[in-house]
Amino acid sequence: MRKYFHPFLDRPLEYLKGVGPAKAVLLQKERGLFCYGDLLYDFPFRYEDRTRFTAISSIQNTDLPVQLRGKLGPLTTMGQGRKQRLVSYLEDETGRLELVWFRGVKYLLQNLKPGQVYIAYGRLNSFKGKLNMPHPEMEVFNAEKVARASHFAPVYASTEKLNGKGLDHRTRRRMIKQVLAEMKTITLQESLSQSLISKLKLCTRAQALSWIHLPQKEEQLHAAQARLKFEELFYIQLIMVRRNIRHKKRIKGHVFERIGQHFNHFYENILPFELTSAQKRVLKEIRADMKSGAQMNRLLQGDVGSGKTIVALMSALMALDNGYQCCIMAPTEILAQQHYQSISEQLAQTDIQVGFLSGSVKGAERKEVLSKTAEGSIHILIGTHALIEPTVQYKNLGLAITDEQHRFGVKQRAELWKKNSERPPHILVMTATPIPRTLAMTLYGDLDVSVIDELPPGRKEIQTTHVYDSKRMEVYNFIRKQIHQGRQIYIVYPLIEESKKLELRDLTNGFERLLHYFPRPTYQMSMVHGQMKPEEKEAEMQKFVERKTQIMVATTVIEVGVNVPNASVMLIENAERFGLSQLHQLRGRVGRGAEQSFCLLMTDFKLSKEAKKRIHTMCSTNDGFKIAEADLELRGPGEIAGTRQSGDLGLKIASLSEDQGLIKTARNAAKMILREDEDLSSSENKPIADYLNTQGKFMQIWTFIS
Ligand code: ADP
Ligand code: MG
Repeated sequence: MRKYFHPFLDRPLEYLKGVGPAKAVLLQKERGLFCYGDLLYDFPFRYEDRTRFTAISSIQNTDLPVQLRGKLGPLTTMGQGRKQRLVSYLEDETGRLELVWFRGVKYLLQNLKPGQVYIAYGRLNSFKGKLNMPHPEMEVFNAEKVARASHFAPVYASTEKLNGKGLDHRTRRRMIKQVLAEMKTITLQESLSQSLISKLKLCTRAQALSWIHLPQKEEQLHAAQARLKFEELFYIQLIMVRRNIRHKKRIKGHVFERIGQHFNHFYENILPFELTSAQKRVLKEIRADMKSGAQMNRLLQGDVGSGKTIVALMSALMALDNGYQCCIMAPTEILAQQHYQSISEQLAQTDIQVGFLSGSVKGAERKEVLSKTAEGSIHILIGTHALIEPTVQYKNLGLAITDEQHRFGVKQRAELWKKNSERPPHILVMTATPIPRTLAMTLYGDLDVSVIDELPPGRKEIQTTHVYDSKRMEVYNFIRKQIHQGRQIYIVYPLIEESKKLELRDLTNGFERLLHYFPRPTYQMSMVHGQMKPEEKEAEMQKFVERKTQIMVATTVIEVGVNVPNASVMLIENAERFGLSQLHQLRGRVGRGAEQSFCLLMTDFKLSKEAKKRIHTMCSTNDGFKIAEADLELRGPGEIAGTRQSGDLGLKIASLSEDQGLIKTARNAAKMILREDEDLSSSENKPIADYLNTQGKFMQIWTFIS
């Protein structure tokens, strides 16, 4: 298949002067570069000002390479055999820096000329407290050449092997110059429509590809970046939005026409509170989807405590009213149990049958649940992954709800689809990890998204405070007071990535210490960690839920969804080690009851700048979306909990955190174009159609709808 629409871009790299078959193979293997287009679309990740030199006295040990100009000192070989190295120094008006080479000593001895003025370029290394420059690139200084050098010389991602075979960034610069020179002889087809280009005041494709590599001025670089970022984001959005539209046309859904008895009865007689307007809006969106004739694929986002469960339940009732079953799947046994308990309680006065299924349901009990589900006498089945096992047959599953989406994989979702042989059930995915809108657009761009952006009234804001280790005793006193008022406490220790053993040690040490300050039998503690068997965890959790223990000591395993409204204090140890969204999730375990709740972030005195910012953000807002935005800025999208898939987007130039405005623009543009010309058959949109059929096919886009 052709990758690019223009034959020029598909021309293999070995046709390039000085490349040849061997080097071409290496470029393929090491960097996936096959043809001119690949080279043009392999953008520099940095630019350097080759006209400037750093004074040796002012160099600092940074990760960035530096460019020096100075006289080369005498060459000395040291060591024998494999340990042999060549040592010299470079001297400018301000000082001296040692240069050292470990390879190619013979060649260097023949070619380097001590006493000459050289440009040395490379990274610094610190050896026994002294800076040196290993393997600098050396070039005899030439004032004329420097005057012609670029302020924006491109630097490309490379590998050890490429550098070793002479395919370093200097060669890459030569190659790209040649490709760009050849490109001038052809007319490169546009990859965006003229109307988009003029409306958004973008530069042309040819300009962008040339300026991104060899800009002469800052404005050119910016114009090229703007254009290429837009292009990248636009095609992601176009593919996502088109998939959504096509899916709705192609995949028929069960039509839930009625709002019936179950729903109305619940709404009028059981629902213990007024729904928030956000909950009402979301229910309307879900209802509209489920009677549209297409299969629903909707993501429901809402901060912890925003009341997603009731929305799930009422959506389930819509399914029941239309003669269908519903299943609700949670990622852990504890969560599934909780949903089961609260939902069966709320439906106790009705004739709706609620079932529970998980790995722990065995024998006769399991058989019964399975047969009732198959014959349709269980109307709502709640459980864990067990719900999608092949043995689970539904009579007519109309709606599948999954809670805490990011814990489930794509494959598991596909299994859900198959649970109704006639038509896939409607799917509602709930997540408690708020993500900024623009990120959601990109990661879940093919889903419809609902947001509950309002908390139920009367919630007391959780008070969040940063405390230092040194105030530990005061914190313990405060905790004792809360316990004596009948409250319960969470104390959380960080997960230690490097070693599960260490993690356990920290936790058990913490536990021992706490025993000292909260002695039995006055105080009772539970402990939960990742190394316990599920049954043990369950039992410990249960004790806490039943108030048999007042303190829950845990690692982050309690992060998700657990609901103990009586708990009023969340003490987080080593809070600096947690990410923002994790801190927010943890904090969400309190503030669920009528009492004032507290979150205490305990840290050492020494804090990194980032950690300070995280703690400050936590203390200044309770709003999960604001926190998610701060998180996105601090860490970038790849790290945000639940969005690991973002890495798979393989963005080359756009950034999900920095280009949020562009993401919105791209999404709107994609929607508008597809609204007017869904098949992209107009002559105006031909460049877009052509791009999609070639380069677009190579884009890696993580999608929900398979
Ligand atoms: P989450 O969105 O985190 O899953 P839940 O669904 O568990 O939140 O709801 C948190 C609490 O808020 C529950 O105790 C629930 O009964 C209560 N709740 C939900 N909606 C409302 C509302 N509109 N008014 C008052 N309380 C509500
Ligand atoms: Mg929940």
